[in-house]
Amino acid sequence: MIRMPDTLAFRLTLWYALGLFLFLISAFLVLYFSVDSVFKARMDEDLMEDIAELGEIYREEGMTALENELDREVAAGDEQEIFRILAFGGAEKYNSSPSLWRELQASAPVPPGTSGEDTPLLFSATLAGEDTPRRFVSGKISADTVLQIGESLEEQQELLALLRSIFLILALLVIPLATLLGWLLSRRAVAGLKAVSKTAARISRGGLDSRVQTRGHGAEIEALSDTFNVMLDRIQSLVNSMREMTDNIAHDLRSPLARIRVISEMSLTNNKSVEEYQTAAAQTIEECDRLLQMINTTLDVAEAEADTGKFSVEDVDISRLTEDACELFQAVAEERGLDLHCRIQPGCLIRGNTNNLQRMLANLMDNALKYTPAPGEVRVELGCNKDNLTITVADTGVGIPAPEQERIFERFFRGDQSRSQEGCGLGLSFSRAVARAHGGDITVRSQIDKGSCFTISLSP
Ligand code: ADP
Repeated sequence: MIRMPDTLAFRLTLWYALGLFLFLISAFLVLYFSVDSVFKARMDEDLMEDIAELGEIYREEGMTALENELDREVAAGDEQEIFRILAFGGAEKYNSSPSLWRELQASAPVPPGTSGEDTPLLFSATLAGEDTPRRFVSGKISADTVLQIGESLEEQQELLALLRSIFLILALLVIPLATLLGWLLSRRAVAGLKAVSKTAARISRGGLDSRVQTRGHGAEIEALSDTFNVMLDRIQSLVNSMREMTDNIAHDLRSPLARIRVISEMSLTNNKSVEEYQTAAAQTIEECDRLLQMINTTLDVAEAEADTGKFSVEDVDISRLTEDACELFQAVAEERGLDLHCRIQPGCLIRGNTNNLQRMLANLMDNALKYTPAPGEVRVELGCNKDNLTITVADTGVGIPAPEQERIFERFFRGDQSRSQEGCGLGLSFSRAVARAHGGDITVRSQIDKGSCFTISLSP
């Protein structure tokens, strides 16, 4: 069995060829039958006019004048038109072509005017000895005389045959040519798609750097390839950040695990006092807690990002919450030789989860104090109106390099200068996830060695 190619270009061409064929066929049929019916209508009109005129000659000038007129017309017309005059009972009074009329007498489809109706009757018939049919009119020209005229349809048949041949030639020439053109056009149209799928294939073999080049293939294909390229950029940056994230996780897991290993190894050596074993156990527990906290925070970030609706939501007095946080961190600030100033508009309310909002604020304030060397200052401000609620946490600390400013919100990302500080790079990703779950966001402005300002905007 022949298998049809299952390509878009082939299908488009097939539909196009089929459409063209149907269009040509219908156009031809409409033309053909219109010509046929116009021709017939005109012939019928002529025949009716003829019978009326000849009837008038008969009535005004008599039978001989009519016969003379008919003889003249037969002689000029080369049997294109044939005539016969019958008495009402069927007896023949005149016959221009006896051999032809004989046939009709035997099998005339309509009785020649004997019905007594005044309107002449029209009908078609093919006579024996003739190839083409004739159109007949049979009508009364007096109370007892019937005139019959038969006109050949040869001209009309020739015209229709010409039409048929023209259509056939047209179909044989135009359809293959147009199909070829359609094939070339559809191949050109899908060339852009091929470029996109080739790039996709290259990428599936591992080359995320490839991009589609489809200039000159039309706006739709260019839009598709642009979208594809944007998607690739996004995937590439996601893959890269995932790679970095895994590196960071590995790095952050390695240190506590290595410490646990060292502690355990040392416990295995002999001659240890009970106190030393207890210290080793306490250190192991501490390291395990740190690991557990890291894993729990990762899960919390994922949960806050997914916004699963697991967190309970209530009316939170965020002014009170921020004041409490300020009070709590005042002691830490003093301990580190820093000034903590808080300016809080009272009575700002928000629908949200108290615990998560508390952790979000604590993360930002903890960071500000952590990354600001003494002597320095941390300012917390909160303001709200009916549409917006803004909290800023600004410090005069080490600042964040411009290329890192968006990346600090990625999971496990830690700035270079923060390696000496405690932390695992999850605080800001958790805080942003919480802000977003509350219909807001966190942004940062920062200058190296001048300080950073984090802005939380929430919708009340
Ligand atoms: P962690 O503080 O545990 O490292 P975070 O997610 O809270 O993790 O912060 C990510 C990184 O952002 C930090 O490692 C640090 O480099 C940078 N960062 C955050 N807050 C500040 C700040 N106030 N000043 C300077 N750098 C900051």
